[in-house]
Amino acid sequence: MKVETHWQTPWKDLFRQSREISRQHSSLSSQFETLLTPHIQEKIKFFGEDSPIGRQYLPSLEEEDPSFTAHGLQDPIADQKYSVVPGLIHRYPNRALYLPTAVCPVHCRYCFRRNEISQQAKIFNRDFSSIQNYLIQHPEINEIIYTGGDPLSLDDPLIEKSLLAFSKVPSIKYIRFHTRFLSTIPERIDSGFLEMLAGCRKHFDQLIFVIHINSPDEICDKFEQAIKYLSSANIQIRSQSVLLKNVNDNAETLAQLFSTLASLGVTPYYLHHADNVYGAKHFQTSLEEGRKIYQQLRSQLSGWMLPHYVIDLPSGGGKVPAYNPETFEYSGQLINRFGQSEAYHQS
Ligand SMILES: *Cc1c(COP(=O)(O)O)cnc(C)c1O
Ligand code: SF4
Repeated sequence: MKVETHWQTPWKDLFRQSREISRQHSSLSSQFETLLTPHIQEKIKFFGEDSPIGRQYLPSLEEEDPSFTAHGLQDPIADQKYSVVPGLIHRYPNRALYLPTAVCPVHCRYCFRRNEISQQAKIFNRDFSSIQNYLIQHPEINEIIYTGGDPLSLDDPLIEKSLLAFSKVPSIKYIRFHTRFLSTIPERIDSGFLEMLAGCRKHFDQLIFVIHINSPDEICDKFEQAIKYLSSANIQIRSQSVLLKNVNDNAETLAQLFSTLASLGVTPYYLHHADNVYGAKHFQTSLEEGRKIYQQLRSQLSGWMLPHYVIDLPSGGGKVPAYNPETFEYSGQLINRFGQSEAYHQS
């Protein structure tokens, strides 16, 4: 498939520039370095530091508030408990997360993996034999979900190598990428990347991209172009968003985000309730607030534009519905993936 590419700067240069910008940015929080891309820096210039985009990436004094940082967990959704071989997390029977890198294009201040991601971390090439062995012993796994870090931080040949390794495991039918690149370095979706994906496409039943996006301000011409390129490669595109205080915690903003995505052919998939993360309490809404917003969205959006509102249980109990059709009030308990009631404390 031939894609016209008018991008002047290869994405690698933009990626490298991100690190330079971050060095110039004196970071308030030494625990979690500031990391912006040129694309995000431009947007912050346009919308302001105190805008929905600015707040997602710029450190705030609230992160340092001891009463805030005291909350939250080292491993907010119990990834480590389900890490079966290095780089593979197997929590649900049919699907496994693959974590090929700890590197991201940006550092989102509310990130639930903030203890694991790092820009120093080497982008590395996993030893596939142990992963392949595990998958062959677990043929119930039919889907591999690339996450991270951000899997698109890897070079195309490394991604290709891993895709070809997964294609050798007969039970793997679905490949999913979770990525933040379309909002941060949309130039990443270039002709070389698409050619690589097109070459691997035939090995799998479906190739799915889940793009992380929280604000309608993240949608622009470059973003739309990247979506068009991906759609042209026979790839399903879905979105995931995090419900964040002072970023998108109202029905109007979210309805605009989801309906615009829908118009571009992106199906809203998840709206995550913000996790209990160190230094990110100022982003959290209560479940009561979240449920009220979601209830309003239900009437404003067609069913297919409405994502699942979910919460990830810290015990590893999985992603469970956060909405309750009976009451906005929160009882303190949620039903986990095993069907048991489990205490979940709002911080
Ligand atoms: C969220 C998550 C998945 C993906 O779950 P879906 O509901 O299929 O999107 C898979 N594995 C782990 C460990 C997860 O946390
Ligand atoms: S892109 Fe994802 S993994 Fe990376 S910092 Fe943002 S939320 Fe965390």
